[in-house]
Amino acid sequence: MCIFCKIVKKEVPASVVYEDSDIIAFKDVHPIAPVHILLIPKKHIESVDDLRDEDVSLAGKLVVAAGKIARDFDISPKGYKLLFRVGEWGGQEVPHLHLHLIGGAKLYEAIHPEEMSKEAR
Ligand code: 5GP
Ligand code: ZN
Repeated sequence: MCIFCKIVKKEVPASVVYEDSDIIAFKDVHPIAPVHILLIPKKHIESVDDLRDEDVSLAGKLVVAAGKIARDFDISPKGYKLLFRVGEWGGQEVPHLHLHLIGGAKLYEAIHPEEMSKEAR
């Protein structure tokens, strides 16, 4: 069973900030910003690449809940970032779909320095 499925089953502790019958949200154990929360479906889906038509409502719930949590944490006025990493080049390390909610500070984007010289496509 994957680490996030264990968090769903409460076999691994997590600082849970939101939970309903379909999704759960908890603080990232290695935050990269003052607010860093992960929202996941309770059902094991590996990544965005595995989402299908029947998952539209579940995927939507993650985004709507992220907005609600952002308001609860008072980071909405300044703005924040929502991020799905997908696969190796997307930097996904945990193979259970998760939406990063990152905020509370000004954020920047980056790609790997080795890729910088490649032609834009
Ligand atoms: P990814 O790189 O897959 O998009 O992000 C995985 C995230 O999960 C990382 O930011 C990492 O810090 C977080 N993470 C990994 N294992 C655990 C854990 O056991 N508990 C919590 N709360 N976060 C975790
Ligand atoms: Zn899982």
